[in-house]
Formats: sequence, structure tokens, C-alpha cells
Amino acid sequence: DVRHGTILTLEDISVSFDGFKALNALNLYIGVGELRCIIGPNGAGKTTLMDVITGKTRPGSGQAWFGETLDLTQMSEVEIAQAGIGRKFQKPTVFEALSVFENLELAQKTNKSVWASLRAKLSGEQRERIDEVLATIRLETARHRPAGLLSHGQKQFLEIGMLLMQDPQLLLLDEPVAGMTDAETEFTAELFKRLAGQHSLMVVEHDMGFVGSIADHVTVLHQGSVLAEGSLDEVQGNERVIEVYLGR
Ligand code: ADP
Repeated sequence: DVRHGTILTLEDISVSFDGFKALNALNLYIGVGELRCIIGPNGAGKTTLMDVITGKTRPGSGQAWFGETLDLTQMSEVEIAQAGIGRKFQKPTVFEALSVFENLELAQKTNKSVWASLRAKLSGEQRERIDEVLATIRLETARHRPAGLLSHGQKQFLEIGMLLMQDPQLLLLDEPVAGMTDAETEFTAELFKRLAGQHSLMVVEHDMGFVGSIADHVTVLHQGSVLAEGSLDEVQGNERVIEVYLGR
């Protein structure tokens, strides 16, 4: 069974926009606990791929499985998020007027309104989980700071923390280190390596230095299909990849 041991199985996925194939018979298998990087030139289909996984875009054909049993093509965006797939967009979207702690508090799985959940008393267990995530994203000392006063990188870490509050099994991250300082990029690499194993991560990234520092497995997308897969060294030495990137 191809789904055994995979957190994500995509087979023969195609997505067309007015006859243009943004994804073209794409196959992708991500193992449980894996840290996978997806690279590829602009227009390769990376965003469409994440949209299919999160249910934002329905594939015209193909199969998409989360774990061994959940058919993503039959689930709504909300159901997919609740099932354990968390997505982080490139631009951080935190509640700027609220403190770091309150942002994490709001991100906890809850069906209460924003105001009701800020008024509700936290259980000891919930408080512990927030402290744990604060330590993971290294924002313990900024816990009472309004999120609007954080640096760009810290806002990104807070948003990752907000995703972690939902206990996702699979995290999708879109260009996480764009605009970060070198130190923030280094911390992100260390953080992702720490999260892998316990979670599975799929990272779309242009920064090859960063890709090289985190991923043992890289997938190159081109024209909506997988062009190459392997270690960064392997794919960077691949003739077809060189052609696509250098236009030779
Ligand atoms: P990437 O994220 O790798 O840059 P995208 O997934 O955004 O690539 O886009 C793949 C291709 O599909 C591009 O040529 C893009 O113009 C096209 N595309 C993406 N979304 C739409 C849409 N909603 N309507 C029409 N074309 C789209």
C-alpha cells in the first residue's frame, strides 16, 4: 500500500485554470515526520499544490490522502484544518493589538468567539501548553508584549506557535524565511529540525542556503509536475533542473 507510512499521498493530481494546467498529473509522497522542501521556478505550481492540500482548490482529477484513510478531495477547508493540516502563509497574520500570550490563547482549538475565549479562564493544562509553545518559539520573555511590536521574524515565529497550538500533524509553510535576518533564518532552521519527527513539514522556499540547511529531501516542481527529487546536491546536479533554472 503506497499510503503506508505517508502523511500525504498525492497521485495523478491535475488542476486546470481555463485549460492551463497549473498541476499536471503530479505525484507526491511525504513520509510521517519528514521535513520536505518544495522548490521550483515562479509559476511551477507550488501555491496551487498547497491550495489542493488545504482544500482551497479542488483538483480536476487525481487522489489526495492525508494519512492512510482521509480523502482530502472529499473534505472542506475547515475539515482539513481540523483534521490536522496547518498552513502558514508568507505574510504573518497575528493580532497586533493583543499580547503574544493572548495570540496563542486564541489559537487554541476552541469554538468560542474571540472575546468569549479571552474572558474564559484557562485550565492549568492549557496554560502549560502555551508556556511550552512559547519556549519552542523562543518568545517567553516577550509573552506580554503586543504582537504589533515584535520584529518581522518574531511575528513569523509567533504565527508558527499559533499553528502549533492546534497540534497539526502536517505543517505547510510558504517561504518562511523571506525577509528574515540571518540569525532569524538560523533559528528557523533549528526550529524546523526540532519540529520534524513529531510533525511532518512541507516547506516551499526559494532560499537555497536555507533549503540546504534543513532538508534531506527536496522536490523540484516544474510546469505542474515533479521534475526531480532527492537530496539538494542530487537535484542541483540534475541536468533537467539546471536547464530549468539556468534556461540552458
Ligand atoms: P508558484 O506558486 O509555483 O509560483 P502557482 O501555483 O501560483 O505557481 O501558479 C501555477 C500556474 O497557474 C501559474 O502559471 C499561474 O499563473 C496559474 N494560476 C494559478 N492560479 C490561477 C488562477 N486562479 N487562475 C488562473 N491561473 C492561475
